[in-house]
Amino acid sequence: MSAITMRDLTKVYPNGVRALDALDLEIADGEFFALLGPSGCGKTTLLRTIAGLEVASGGSVHIGERAVTNLPPGKRDVAMVFQDYALFPHMTVQENIAYPLRIKKMDRRGRAEKAAETADELGLSALLQRRPGQLSGGQQQRVALARAMACHPQVFLLDEPLSNLDARLRLEARTFLKRLQRELGVTTVFVTHDQAEALALADRIAVMEGGRIRQVGTPTEVFRRPANTFVAGFIGSTPMNLIDAEAHDGELAVAGTRLPMPEDVRDRVSAGEKLVYGVRPEYLDYSAEPVPGALSGQVVVVENLGSFSLVSLDVAGGAAGTSVQVVVPEGREPEPGDTGWVVPRPGRTLLYRDGEL
Ligand code: ATP
Repeated sequence: MSAITMRDLTKVYPNGVRALDALDLEIADGEFFALLGPSGCGKTTLLRTIAGLEVASGGSVHIGERAVTNLPPGKRDVAMVFQDYALFPHMTVQENIAYPLRIKKMDRRGRAEKAAETADELGLSALLQRRPGQLSGGQQQRVALARAMACHPQVFLLDEPLSNLDARLRLEARTFLKRLQRELGVTTVFVTHDQAEALALADRIAVMEGGRIRQVGTPTEVFRRPANTFVAGFIGSTPMNLIDAEAHDGELAVAGTRLPMPEDVRDRVSAGEKLVYGVRPEYLDYSAEPVPGALSGQVVVVENLGSFSLVSLDVAGGAAGTSVQVVVPEGREPEPGDTGWVVPRPGRTLLYRDGEL
C-alpha cells in the first residue's frame, strides 16, 4: 500500500512565510494526483515535504502505514523528477539511469541490466551511450523518468513534468505520461500551474491557494461544481463568469434580469440575500435577437480562437463594469458595438454565498 496521508501539515520557512497551513490531504494508492494552483500557493513545498527535501514544521506525512515525517529522502521510498530533470551532464544515459542503483550498492552487472530494461520500457534503448546534452527535451524527460523508475519506488513525485517541453511535445509527453502511470500503477503526485494539464492527466486534483487546499475532486467535479469562487475562477480554459446576484421571490436578480433560481439551492436561499451567480462561457447561448430570460449587453471584444470566438459583453443593468464572456461558434460571431443576449443553460449554473458553494 502506498497511499499518502498528510495531517495538519505545516511548513513555515525561516523567513516567516507559511507555505503550508495545517493542510489535510489523502492520496489513494495507485492514484495519479495533481497539485494545482497559482504561483506561490505552496505546490512545490508540498511535493518537497512529501519527498523529505523540506522538513515539516508541524503535522505528519504517512506513506502507507509508515510515518515518514522525520525520515530523510533516501529512506522514504519515493522518487522525484525535477522540473529541469537534473540529469548529470557528464554521465551517459545508461549511467544516469543506473545512478540511484549505484547509490543502493547494486553490482555493476545488475545495474547495467536494470538500466537497459528500464530504458527499453521507455523507448530509450538506442540512446544509452549518449549524454544529456545530445538529447531533445522530450528524451531528457524520459531519461529522468527512467532514473526515477529504476528503483521501483512506492511513490513518484513530479515537479511541473511538462513545463520544459514545447507545446507540441507537451501533448505527446502528456499522453505518454498518462499511459506509463496507468501501466505502472504507482502512486504519482505531480505539480502543475496549468489547469488544462491537471484536468487532462489527473485522477483527482487538489486546488491550492495560500498554503491551503480549496477543493479536492476528480477533473469532472472541480470543473462542473467548483466548491468556491476561487476554484471557479481558476479552472477552465476561460474563467467562469461570476456576477453579483440577489435572491427575490424564488428568482435571482442578475444584472437587471430575473433568472430562475437553480433547483438544488432553492431551499437554502433567503429573500434579499446577496449571492454570486456563476456560469461558464461555454454554457451560455448567444443570440443577436431578444430572448426571454436572457442577460443583454453591448459586445465590446470578440476574440477569434479558431473553431469558436470568445465574446465579451458589458451587461446592461449590472454594476458598472459588469462583463460577461460567452463562447460563440464559428460563423455566428457578432461585431463589437452590437447588442447581444445571452441565455444560461439550465442545470449549468452555480450560486455562491460568501465565496462558497
Ligand atoms: P510556483 O508555481 O511559482 O513554483 P508554488 O505553488 O510551487 O509556486 P512554493 O514554491 O511552494 O509555491 O512557495 C510557496 C511560498 O513559500 C511562496 O510564498 C514562496 O515565496 C515561499 N518559499 C518557497 N521556498 C522558500 C524558501 N526556500 N525560503 C523561503 N520562502 C520560500
